Amino acid sequence: MRIVAANWKMNLRRQSALELASRLKADGRQCWLFPSFPLLPAVAQAIAGSGLLLGAQDVSPEEDGAFTGDVSAGQLADAGCSLVLVGHSERRHGHGERHPLLLRKLKRAAAEGLKIVYCVGETLAERQAGRAETVTGEQLGTLQKLDESERAMIAAVAYEPVWAIGTGENATPQQAQEIHAGLRAALQRLGISAPLLYGGSVKPDNARELLTQPDVAGVLVGGASLDYESLAAIDNAAMEA
Ligand code: PEP
Repeated sequence: MRIVAANWKMNLRRQSALELASRLKADGRQCWLFPSFPLLPAVAQAIAGSGLLLGAQDVSPEEDGAFTGDVSAGQLADAGCSLVLVGHSERRHGHGERHPLLLRKLKRAAAEGLKIVYCVGETLAERQAGRAETVTGEQLGTLQKLDESERAMIAAVAYEPVWAIGTGENATPQQAQEIHAGLRAALQRLGISAPLLYGGSVKPDNARELLTQPDVAGVLVGGASLDYESLAAIDNAAMEA
């Protein structure tokens, strides 16, 4: 079965998030939902008893304490999360998050029992310079610093080319497969058997072709996950792939 992960980013209000989550539950869907922090407890309640999983979009590297505005892994677990995104490009590029910080986040999340969706992806300039594989390989290298029990907490690795996120321009299925094949081999060397997701302007009309690539085990969807019809169409494509 292919994975469909919905990154709602800083979108939706309580009412619209609950409507979306309730419809997905009523359909018996098994997507992974990543609402923003304040929506987590309400969505957790709405999806209780379903096959839907709840995740957060970010996590503090600290355990607790005086870190205004941050949210700890323990608080996320308390709020009903079983998953967390680490290394999303909007954190890497919008907030300057790099290897040392991401490693601390990975370790904190794993210590609290949160499963991780670790994101990697190259910028347009890096792709144009022929460095897509090198950059994504280096980003994946952060996982080398995890011990065996922490590596077991990697639920998925998402390849999200920065130039494809929110731009309407998705990687071609061939481009996605090419990078995924390299990441698959690198993950094997690390002893990590996590599935690889593709993210970046996934829509109902391109999901099927992306999802039928041999190393694409699922998709991480931003914009198209905010609307029930389009998320359901992508999930249907994932079930048929
Ligand atoms: C994302 O942010 O994870 C993402 C893939 O966004 P979009 O689908 O909107 O490109």
